[in-house]
Amino acid sequence: MGLGELFRSLGSLFFPSLCLNCRRTLASPDELLCVRCGNEMPVSDSYRHAENAVTDRLAGRFPLTFGAHAYTFREGTVCQALIHALKYHDRPDVGVALGRQFGTILQTAETLHDVAGIVPVPIHRRRRRQRGYNQAEKIAEGLAEALQVRVYPRALRRTAFAGSQTKMGKLERLENVRHSFTAGEGDFTGAHLIIVDDVLTTGATLDFCAHALLEKHAGLRVSVVTLAVAEK
Ligand SMILES: [Zn+2]
Repeated sequence: MGLGELFRSLGSLFFPSLCLNCRRTLASPDELLCVRCGNEMPVSDSYRHAENAVTDRLAGRFPLTFGAHAYTFREGTVCQALIHALKYHDRPDVGVALGRQFGTILQTAETLHDVAGIVPVPIHRRRRRQRGYNQAEKIAEGLAEALQVRVYPRALRRTAFAGSQTKMGKLERLENVRHSFTAGEGDFTGAHLIIVDDVLTTGATLDFCAHALLEKHAGLRVSVVTLAVAEK
């Protein structure tokens, strides 16, 4: 149990839990949002469609078996409040809870029935130290629980940037990021893995992660699941 988690469970003995968006008192400490804010979550049904925002944004980069996201991310929305809590306000439980929720929905996706495990996009060691956890790993934990598969947090490694990024051009910087993702532990020959991240933006990170895994493991199939897709 992390410190934040400990204080929260101690705190909930004395203080009521608050909605992560509007700060109203929640009926149960297990909830993240009040009913009103919960109804405002921009839920996506992308998992029902072979072509969706995730598959569109990753099209042509690597063979994608299945892609889906839980919410559409917009500035100032309830979804942003949850992602912020997860990334910046020491709430790893938000990642686990949202991952579990989406995982329960994804149980119906037949394409995922042969999935061998879930691989979270790794973050820098420095950032992990600051935050105390990798937010993608927390989402992966919730998903894995619902889908009853394992999480492989060391299947991908993220090494430090080489040199100062600020002196590099845009292309050079992108190349640098590409090489900062390498395949790590495990043999996933012929397996089907889900790579998980919090928000899909340009798709570059997921592209690099998928390539690192595909280059190491022959016959690997890759699916991608994210909590949200940022609108362009
Ligand atoms: Zn609320």
